[in-house]
Amino acid sequence: MVVRSRWMPFASFSLMSEFVPAVGQEYWHCDMKRGFQRVRKKEPAIAAILNQDTTVQRIGLLAQQGVYEFHQDDRLLDDVNCVNRVARSLKLEDESLVVRERVLQVLDNYYNQPVLRGKKILKLSRGDEGMPTPLEVRADNLSFKLFAAIDCLFLEENGTLHILDFKTGKSDFDLRQGYVYLLTASYLYPNQRAVASFYNLESCKWSEPITASPLQLNAIQSNLARIAQKHDAQTQQYRKNSTEFGQIFPPNPDQSRCKHCQFHSVCNFSAWEVSA
Ligand code: SF4
Repeated sequence: MVVRSRWMPFASFSLMSEFVPAVGQEYWHCDMKRGFQRVRKKEPAIAAILNQDTTVQRIGLLAQQGVYEFHQDDRLLDDVNCVNRVARSLKLEDESLVVRERVLQVLDNYYNQPVLRGKKILKLSRGDEGMPTPLEVRADNLSFKLFAAIDCLFLEENGTLHILDFKTGKSDFDLRQGYVYLLTASYLYPNQRAVASFYNLESCKWSEPITASPLQLNAIQSNLARIAQKHDAQTQQYRKNSTEFGQIFPPNPDQSRCKHCQFHSVCNFSAWEVSA
């Protein structure tokens, strides 16, 4: 796969879920969040918000870093003090109480159930590497950049590539994300069988392995192409007339959920901000 630097629309699972939320997440869906996050992200007030991890993001990042640390030295998991050692390396003492407690639980869980131990790990991400290198994909007469940050890639004994995504919190796994990973693998490793799965570091629940037929991969690729195109068109529309922000990225009509939105302090549609 050739990676080019020329500009083109982009897509990712994350962008996909900002268009169509996962089952069970519909309540929180708001197109305007995407507008702030993707299109107005360089405005100083919005950049300042985006530079601060939410509690959920912080827990996810530190949990991932914890797993990474456990596997930097194979002997570490044999050390009875390894949870404390990893906690220190993550500087958990500097985190809020809720983040500290939940990440410590993740570390404890992982020490008791180190799911990657003995696996032939090809790639294990720390989670703070920044944007992954995009793939250039062409589908439905549109070229777009596909971003997919893979947490972990290991080789099963039968030679199958296994893409593992770490989760925290209570959200269900989203099958679409598994398909995006498998689409990525089909470009990066075209001759290798691949499966994807999710492992929740808090509940210690591992999903069934997900596979995808060529038809399913084509479908997800077309879906990503449509999303890339639509998001790009909306971005251009906003650039031409920024006063239409609220029409291009309509707010969720139920403003009761604005209270939990990271953009409520800058959002003119947040009833919560007005009444606070
Ligand atoms: S504050 Fe409310 S309307 Fe504004 S972006 Fe957030 S959820 Fe949407």
